[in-house]
Amino acid sequence: MQHPDPLASLNPQQREAATHGTGDTAGDKRPLLVIAGAGSGKTNTLAHRVATLIRHGADAQRMMLLTFSRRAAQEMERRVGGVLQQALGLQGSNALPNLPWSGTFHSLGARLLREYAPRIGLDDNFTIHDRGDAEDLMGMVRHDIGFSETKKRFPLKGTCLGIYSRVLNTRDPLALVLQQVYPWCSQWEDELKKLFGAYVEAKEQQNVLDYDDLLAYWADMMAEPTLAAEIGARFDHLLVDEYQDTNKLQAEIILGLKPTGEGVTVVGDDAQSIYSFRGATVRNILDFPHQFAQPARVVTLERNYRSTQPILDASNAVIAAARERHAKNLYTEKASSQQAQLVLVPDEAQQARWVADEVLRCREGGTVLKQQAVLFRASHHSAGLELELARRNIPFVKFGGLKFLEAAHVKDVMAVLRFAQNPRGRMAGFRVVQLVPGIGAATATRLLDAMAEAPDPQAALQSFEPPAQAKDGWSELAALFAKLDDSELAWPADMELAKSWYLPQLERMHDDAQVRKMDIEQLARLAASYGSRERFLTELTLDPPEVTSDQSGPPLRDEDYLILSTIHSAKGQEWKSVHVLNCVDGCIPSDMATGTTDEIEEERRLLYVAMTRAKEHLHLMVPQRFYVTQQSGGGDRHMYAGRTRFVSDAMLAQFEQVVWPEAVASPAGQPQPQAPVLQVRQRARAAWR
Ligand code: ATP
Ligand code: MG
Repeated sequence: MQHPDPLASLNPQQREAATHGTGDTAGDKRPLLVIAGAGSGKTNTLAHRVATLIRHGADAQRMMLLTFSRRAAQEMERRVGGVLQQALGLQGSNALPNLPWSGTFHSLGARLLREYAPRIGLDDNFTIHDRGDAEDLMGMVRHDIGFSETKKRFPLKGTCLGIYSRVLNTRDPLALVLQQVYPWCSQWEDELKKLFGAYVEAKEQQNVLDYDDLLAYWADMMAEPTLAAEIGARFDHLLVDEYQDTNKLQAEIILGLKPTGEGVTVVGDDAQSIYSFRGATVRNILDFPHQFAQPARVVTLERNYRSTQPILDASNAVIAAARERHAKNLYTEKASSQQAQLVLVPDEAQQARWVADEVLRCREGGTVLKQQAVLFRASHHSAGLELELARRNIPFVKFGGLKFLEAAHVKDVMAVLRFAQNPRGRMAGFRVVQLVPGIGAATATRLLDAMAEAPDPQAALQSFEPPAQAKDGWSELAALFAKLDDSELAWPADMELAKSWYLPQLERMHDDAQVRKMDIEQLARLAASYGSRERFLTELTLDPPEVTSDQSGPPLRDEDYLILSTIHSAKGQEWKSVHVLNCVDGCIPSDMATGTTDEIEEERRLLYVAMTRAKEHLHLMVPQRFYVTQQSGGGDRHMYAGRTRFVSDAMLAQFEQVVWPEAVASPAGQPQPQAPVLQVRQRARAAWR
């Protein structure tokens, strides 16, 4: 039976990319770069490429597919499955490919490091610190070496971690990072060196890795030719989506795995590079063509399949004003009479009301909630909207925001499991041990020191003498860890043990234990879907689940809900209708970024990313009373914000302007009044300082 050609829907350039090195071009071993604008089908083409390679005999087990999030990896597998099903004429989900090596750089790095741990001097029981733990450890080390007392105005732990992380991810020398990004910390260069040395030592002693180590150690492995060759030989294909947001280490990893470039495919859009604040560099994409032993084949795509012409016009206008831009001529065949809207509302409360109204109106018009998204610059910007949605019973899921895992009680249970996995991990240990009534920081430190020095930490725990008042609680905890240490224990039995020990502690510590208990139950359910304790801890740390409107973990699959997301987390996705909140100066661009041109340009690309998520309806929200904080000599000043500078007067023709309900639009061309707001409370406090 003849099945439809799954590539029939692709345009010639997309087909060229999808089939590169197969069939007629089988002799072409060049690496492949697809560089193209938003919505031009890069991700879709990549999925078709994976399917095409599989149909030409490539082994899915030997493909490494690197995406920006676990969600993106799952979506990619779904798309590949769809193409394969169509090609093979299969029904149902049994054609879903098993792509065991698809995921983020960090999660695949964690897997490889665990596997190769003995070869690189790592203990394979290592646990992974999330940003919070990493910051806390940095703070602890900073304190231990005496900087918190002796060095007045020494940078805070979060700043220290930021500097450390940037040095690692960019491979730039500390002095340069300080000079370029943290000039106000330059005077502390020597102290920071000492601090980072001690931080690295502490991680080693405790057998923990932080996020950055997952990339840095992987890149270091690649610098070792025999290891690099061995690991590289396990994969025939390396495919990377969103390549514009990779950093130097990630480029080194790709190059180390495949020095000839054979089997390497990357896709990206330099106009959507939005992670340079984390050390990502658009240079990666620009250097790619000449980085390998042979030059790359470069394919560009020009037709946008996502958005209507007016939405594309408005987005193009915003990005066309960028300082540096590699011109791309995007066009679409989706005509529409509906322009992108610029919606002026009086303030954030009215903004929330307008958005909720519009979301419901749109649903009545037949667009389910899941096809609608509200995007914002920073996670806390959605707080008002979340309240409004809750009030109106509109369910939502929030991406990239405060994580389920950040709740204290969820952290407690995770710490129990982490400590069982790696008894040298002090951050987890410190947290768990102090849950025992009668045990405080001093006793916890004594225990952890004893465990750190002992050849067998578990034995040290079991023989520890707690203070008299903690005896009962302690013996329960010791019994728990004896059970968790049993190698016969099959996951998720560990989770059940941890839960049954923890629930009584929860009741003792919190008045609202009943509510919190639901989260723990949710966590236990989630645990059951992972194959092992180690897998659960790693995956959850690297890619935590989203928050839902009832705050109790991931939503049911079939329920309809509105998407709330930071712009950063919305990368690569699309919705029929998109609202972008707070399109005002001080927010986009953020008031944290008013510094260099590079920072401002990144904010412009951020707005471009947000706008290009929309298929049919795009609304840029402009609350006219939006307070932004500006740091000036004497402290913070609160100002009225104006429409974002990225929508200039000349661009207004690309938008339909809506004023709602009684706000007065400033006449086009007039900047918003920037009246300073009198901060009475602040003055009152200052008077007593
Ligand atoms: P972004 O830069 O935002 O990541 P992208 O370039 O990866 O975008 P995709 O997400 O792959 O673009 O595609 C955008 C939309 O266009 C999707 O809905 C996809 O299904 C559709 N699309 C892509 N190529 C085609 C095609 N040849 N025919 C019809 N639809 C297409
Ligand atoms: Mg994409």
